[in-house]
Amino acid sequence: MKKAELNVYRDRLRELRARLRGDVDQLANSALNKTRSETNGDLSSMPIHMADIGSDNFEQEFTLSLMENEEGTLDAIESALERIGTGTYGLCEECGVKIPKARLLAIPYAPFCVKCAEHHENQV
Ligand SMILES: [Zn+2]
Repeated sequence: MKKAELNVYRDRLRELRARLRGDVDQLANSALNKTRSETNGDLSSMPIHMADIGSDNFEQEFTLSLMENEEGTLDAIESALERIGTGTYGLCEECGVKIPKARLLAIPYAPFCVKCAEHHENQV
């Protein structure tokens, strides 16, 4: 995955984590970082257009999984951020295939592809 692309997911994950923790300062920071990368021109090379993402669906899905298992979601976010650091982000932890972009956009902390997630009923 390209660095610019990873940055998008990392920002999202950090934002989600901040929201889960109710950490307002972190939210503010992530907003600041976004502005900074925009002025750096990072966005022009970005393969994902944030406007294309159905944010309503995203919100809904996020809220649902949040209600199901808040602690688990935080853990999943943490390990997703670790995978970004180790370069294995976006690969299914079970079978190693690339997780489809649409899935990562909806659930950026998803550790499994859809197939494997079905085998892990209680996980994302
Ligand atoms: Zn898999």
